Amino acid sequence: MNITILGAGAMGSLFGGLLAESGQAVTLLDVDDTHLQAVRQHGLRLETDAGDRQISALLACRPEHAPAAADLLIVFTKTLHTAAAMAGIGHVVGPHTRVLTLQNGLGNVETISRSVPMERLIVGMTNWPADKAGAGHVRSHGQGLVRLLAADGRPDPAVTRIAGVLDAAGLACAVDPQVWTSIWEKVAFNTALNSICAATGCSLGRLATTPPALSLVGSMIDEVLAVAHAEGVETDAARCRAAVMRALVEQVGHQPSMLQDVRAGRPTEVQALNGAVVEKARRHGLAVPHVETLLALVRLVEAVEAVA
Ligand code: NAD
Repeated sequence: MNITILGAGAMGSLFGGLLAESGQAVTLLDVDDTHLQAVRQHGLRLETDAGDRQISALLACRPEHAPAAADLLIVFTKTLHTAAAMAGIGHVVGPHTRVLTLQNGLGNVETISRSVPMERLIVGMTNWPADKAGAGHVRSHGQGLVRLLAADGRPDPAVTRIAGVLDAAGLACAVDPQVWTSIWEKVAFNTALNSICAATGCSLGRLATTPPALSLVGSMIDEVLAVAHAEGVETDAARCRAAVMRALVEQVGHQPSMLQDVRAGRPTEVQALNGAVVEKARRHGLAVPHVETLLALVRLVEAVEAVA
């Protein structure tokens, strides 16, 4: 399969590397010239539980130099860059190209459907972890999975085939009719942990040992899942809380990506998380005071850090 990855940072490079290793024809597209140059010169260095290796059997270039239409385009920019990234790759999206988003947060389907017909869009969730360890170098330890579904919800043999290709690359992928449950539960997880850590500068371990902060996490999860319910998506609050507690115990020193972003003076994905939840809550007449307060605080930290 001819697979193009739009946004070859931590996740895009992990997926692209594993797909290339499994024999697919992969092109990485990014605007980070240092990363692209390193991949072209030395191959992509991928560190996973399967080993530390260089993968050379892939192309890496800027979006404007991307070769012809792909069979599958996987969007892995941060959510705030999706619209601009999609605008620059019209030539990669042919009449048969499927476009898959596994980005965190809400609103990804809406953004991409402005340039791709809904019936060719695939939406999903992944909890594989990945970090950029340097130019041309990505690290991912531990296990994850991918769940996906045609964005219009209809059964589609092409989506099943794509899930098979990702699964054969070791990404533990399956089609899941309940994909929106997974997406919303991850939104609840990320909205709480990311925004609290970004607003306060704390790691997950400190959060876990501070009872009032833990109670704030619980309130935020309840608020997000109430909005999911109003949207017609049933979730499992106990499962979501258990996933949060597992992360707090197992990833003590971890700094969530939103905290890493504010520390680096970069804008965050808070709009796709807290922001989108607040907007949907308003439409349903629901109050989400904790989610809304953290949205304001992260916006404030973004402004302070951008100036600093
Ligand atoms: P990242 O910042 O490492 O990678 C994003 C890449 O997009 C960067 O390399 C950036 O240069 C590139 N980019 C920005 N604008 C572009 C454009 N116009 N055209 C092409 N490329 C462009 O981010 P990430 O951690 O890989 O996360 C990507 C998405 O996956 C996010 O939505 C994130 O929330 C989600 N996610 C991340 C993880 C994780 O562990 N890192 C896990 C699950 C989901």
